[in-house]
Parts: sequence; structure tokens; C-alpha cells
Amino acid sequence: MPALILKAGREKSLLRRHPWIFSGAVQHVDQEPIPGGTVDLLSSNKQFLARASYSPTSQIRARAWTFEDKPVDKEFFRKQIRKAIDARYSLSDSRDTDSLRLIYAESDGIPGLIVDRYGDVLILQSLTTGSEFWKETLADLLLEETGLAIVYERSDADVRELEGLEPTVGLLRGTLPSFIFHLTEHNLKFNVNAQSGHKTGFYLDQRANRLRVRQLARGKDVLDGFCYTGGFTVNALAGGAKSVLSIDSSADALALARQNVALNDLPMEKANFLEGDVFQLLRKFRDENRSFDMIILDPPKFAPTAAQAARAARGYKDINLLAFKLLRPGGILVTFSCSGGVDAMLFQKIIAGAALDAGVEAQIIEHLSQGADHPVSLHFPEAAYLKGLVCYKTA
Ligand code: SAH
Repeated sequence: MPALILKAGREKSLLRRHPWIFSGAVQHVDQEPIPGGTVDLLSSNKQFLARASYSPTSQIRARAWTFEDKPVDKEFFRKQIRKAIDARYSLSDSRDTDSLRLIYAESDGIPGLIVDRYGDVLILQSLTTGSEFWKETLADLLLEETGLAIVYERSDADVRELEGLEPTVGLLRGTLPSFIFHLTEHNLKFNVNAQSGHKTGFYLDQRANRLRVRQLARGKDVLDGFCYTGGFTVNALAGGAKSVLSIDSSADALALARQNVALNDLPMEKANFLEGDVFQLLRKFRDENRSFDMIILDPPKFAPTAAQAARAARGYKDINLLAFKLLRPGGILVTFSCSGGVDAMLFQKIIAGAALDAGVEAQIIEHLSQGADHPVSLHFPEAAYLKGLVCYKTA
């Protein structure tokens, strides 16, 4: 078995079961492993630490499949997949939706592999040379273990570049009747575009937060910034909002958002859609003295890594400051960050700074995060990326 022998002292993170080994920790590569192939990770005195996938072009040179000295083969992956799927269906969330994240990479002990189930369709994202090496086996196993027939691949995330992988999109198994398919969640329906949607098509991670918005929206004038295909918009209307203004820079996203309102027979006259830049529009609304009872801000990732945190912080502060100004007293701000480079404490500080500079008093009434189908392994805190605050403007 090819092996990576680590520098002295660099075994510590593996002993704590963190699955990554960075290139700088490797002393010596034994027997030329192939990209994505399996390697043993050995300490400087040649003790077995883990069995891992090899990524020769990435700074993250290896990702542990297992910390036990056992074979990494089809049966190994079957067990990992089975465990992940069983966990999902033991959660109450699975009763409220037909669409869940079944496999969440490192958190489920399968680094590089993301699998989302939308009704009868599985959407697979392979992000590393390791998951790429096993992709066909993983696709077979997914069908065997779920009893479903369709796997569509959306391996077009930018991070593949770091692994030296090209974007790959298309059918892996079965046939897709249409690129638009439906999901039902908390009794609401959504159309999802498998081919061009973000991530795997829908923000499954926001499921519980969508429901929360539904519960809070009654009688309110709502602004849904960065609305995408209307996840929060539809829920706000279903919750009895007086009006919802939904903003996104993408005309395609807005078209689907409008369809999703119609699909649920919600009052179209209460829904307004605006194509534009949230940063500019919030400024314009401030200059026009407009106001709202509830503002939802769920922007794209401003800082994928900690290196971009300062720039991201300015972006978050800007929109949240404007939102605080636009809120009526007693109004609610539901604000999110999905940037891995901005942790929950930093995000809270940014929002506090925004309230201060806006000259408003506000309280945090709730902390939000990603749903239970996006679990965070205790050994891999990097998996926690989504944080949200519900703030109440007192004055
Ligand atoms: N809240 C959505 C997900 C938002 S994803 C949901 O729960 O489904 C971020 C969205 O922001 C994308 O749809 C993208 O088109 C949009 N976007 C990115 N930058 C923007 C900007 N400056 N102004 C308006 N929309 C923007």
C-alpha cells in the first residue's frame, strides 16, 4: 500500500480524528500513489494513523476515509452510506419533506461526496480526487442502498479546481424526465432546476429557517433580499405576510420564485419581484424613506476562506446596517452568513457593529444554523458554515 509518512509531531490532528493532512505535514511519499487512490498515513515512526485518499495537486494532500486498519473497498463505502442514510431517516425532519441531504462529505466519513435527495432523484457532487476515484462505485451503491434509479451529477463547484478536476455535469444513472422537478417541504411545493440551480438546485440547509420565517411573518411587510427561487418568499406568504418584496440579481431565479408562489396558490397580488442589486436597492429604499416589518438577508458566500474575511465583513455590515435602518420599531431582521471564513462569533460582532452604526437598538432573539441533515462532525468543525441571527429592533 502506498503511504504518506508524516513529519514528527504532525500526527496530532489525525489522532483527534480530523480527516485532513496538509502538504506541509508530509515528510515522504512512499510508492507513488495515484490521484484519488488509497494511501496509508503513517507517523514519523511508521505507526498506522489512517487510510486516506490522495490528492497530489491540492494543499489538502490526503483525506482520511478511516482511522482503523481495515480495507477501503465497496463494502466499506456501503457501510458509510448506509449509516448516513439511516441517520437522516431517524430524524424527524425527514417526515416534513421528500428532499434531504443524504450524505454530507467529511461529516459522514466520506470526504468529497455530497448527495442530496430530491423526491426520487439523487443529485451527486464529487469534490475531490478521492470521491472521483470511487464515483462509479458510489453511484452504484447509492442506487442499491436507496432503491432509487436516478443519479444526476452536479460536480461543477469551483473547489474542484484545487483538486485539478474539471467541472462535470450530467446523468450518472437512469434518465431524468425533466430538468425541472418538484420538492415538497412542510406542505409547500417548490420547482427546482437540476441543471442550472445553485449548489444541487435548492438551499436544503435552510429548511428549518424557512419554517421559522413562516411562523414569524403574519401581517408583516417583508423584504426578502437575495431571494433566489423564493424559499423564504413562499414561506412568508404562506405564513400570512401582508406583502413580500423579493429581490435577486438573477432573472432566472426570480422567474422560478414567481412560479413557486403560483405553485402553492399563494396570493400573487401580495408578491412583488425586483431584479437588481440588494446593496444598491437597500440604499435607494433608505433614501426614499421606505420601511418594512421583516427583512431577510441570505446573501451568497462573501468569504469562502478566512483570508477573505475582512472584505466579507464590510459586505455584511453594509447590508445589515441598511436593513436595520429600513426596519420599523418592533421589526425583525433574519440575517445569514454562509461564509466558511466568517465564524458565528465574528458574524455576531459584525451585526452588532451594523446596529450601532445604524443608531438602532436591537436584540438577538434566536440563533439559526444549517439543518440536521447537514450535520457537523465533532472532529470536523469546518462543516459548520451557515449561521443566522433573528434580531428584534426595539427602537
Ligand atoms: N435565500 C435563498 C438563497 C440565496 S442564494 C434561499 O433560501 O433559497 C444567494 C442569491 O443571491 C442568489 O440567487 C444570487 O443570484 C443572488 N445575488 C448575488 N449577489 C446579489 C446582489 N448583489 N444583489 C441581489 N442578488 C444577488
